[in-house]
Amino acid sequence: MATDIFETRESQVRSYCMNWPATFERASGAYQWSEDGTKYLDFFSGAGALNYGHNHPELRDLVVEYVANDGVTHSMDMKTPAKRRFLETFERIILEPRNLDYKVMFPGPTGTNTVEAALKLARKVTGRQHILSFTNAFHGMTLGSLSVTGNSMKRKGAGIPLTNSSKIPYDDYFDGDIPDFLWLERVLEDSGSGVDKPAAVIVETVQGEGGLNAARMEWLKALHDLLKRHKILLIVDDVQAGCGRTGKFFSFEDAGIVPDIVCVSKSISGYGLAMALTLFKPELDVWEGGEHNGTFRGNNLAFVTGARALELFWSDDSFQKELAGRIDELKQGLEKIAEHVKGAYVKGRGFLTGLHFPNPDTAGKVAAEAYKRNMLMETSGPEDEVVKLMPPLTIDSEDLQKGLKILEEAVLAATGQMSEPSRLRPPH
Ligand SMILES: *Cc1c(COP(=O)(O)O)cnc(C)c1O
Repeated sequence: MATDIFETRESQVRSYCMNWPATFERASGAYQWSEDGTKYLDFFSGAGALNYGHNHPELRDLVVEYVANDGVTHSMDMKTPAKRRFLETFERIILEPRNLDYKVMFPGPTGTNTVEAALKLARKVTGRQHILSFTNAFHGMTLGSLSVTGNSMKRKGAGIPLTNSSKIPYDDYFDGDIPDFLWLERVLEDSGSGVDKPAAVIVETVQGEGGLNAARMEWLKALHDLLKRHKILLIVDDVQAGCGRTGKFFSFEDAGIVPDIVCVSKSISGYGLAMALTLFKPELDVWEGGEHNGTFRGNNLAFVTGARALELFWSDDSFQKELAGRIDELKQGLEKIAEHVKGAYVKGRGFLTGLHFPNPDTAGKVAAEAYKRNMLMETSGPEDEVVKLMPPLTIDSEDLQKGLKILEEAVLAATGQMSEPSRLRPPH
């Protein structure tokens, strides 16, 4: 089937389709089918936008019903029953049981939109300009988000200086030799340090794009306490690690902290629809009406599926419990596979996990070998040195084991321990 139009007409800015050249036509749960009928096991999950798998049947039926009834699709920030239901459900199922009193802001519908809103609000509230972020952080591709992102290739794409932010070392950056926050604590207390007091620190609890570095809970708690002492706002970017990806709805729950601002996007619609939230403590709600605006803040299809997804998966702890078992299963499987390669080890947390290889070329080869075996998985890290696994949280044990088996074969093939794939794709 023709793919010329993608090559001749679409910009070379494309990335995922360069590694995965199939034309994907249908999807369900943990699987996608290309036009030629090949079935792919998806351990990528839209980079975390599809935590409940592709086209969850109950959510899909709601979309069809809402559309068939001429429900309002686009509403700016006007009131709709769909938005009411989302807000009420989010309050009842997510905020109240966790004792979280957050105002909900709908920024534009993407991850970088919620990060921009968070940075803008932190600066407005504190009257300070400087933001601190971490080595290997990823927060999005617009200028404000890029300014707090680590990756040098992505930063260079800005084409202008990225200012008003500095990088500080993430947990374990110095391999445990240097005490945590030594530098940060010192410069905040030293009026002669020359480091402007920041408005906020923005952090991912697991660095999804930056190599699956997972902060320890005690490190997050210490960061939270240090910032509180210095009246600096803590922003948790939960765009990728949130919505259950690490085992709890918010990735910071086990640290026992309440961030001042939380960025949520990717899987909040539950269906892969564009949607984002910026959550903040009520006393930070200093916006003027319309001061931060956007045409696509009222994606009602996303409100409909988002509310239902919260009810389906988060109204009691049965889903979390099942997920915890699955997380253990994945971890054990990965640890066994890591034994095939000297120096390889498991990284990340929950279902945001993967394998680090000592040779930075290995991960890319493993992902390519997996694709040959009809499985999607991406790489992560500054040198793409980590194979990243993000199965849907709803995956059953059988499909999880299938994925682990393919990964094992891919690792063996990529490291020259097995020559031929046992199951090659049918020719196109
Ligand atoms: C994906 C991601 C973003 C950016 O989201 P977009 O929807 O691509 O703009 C921001 N922060 C984190 C942690 C992400 O993983």
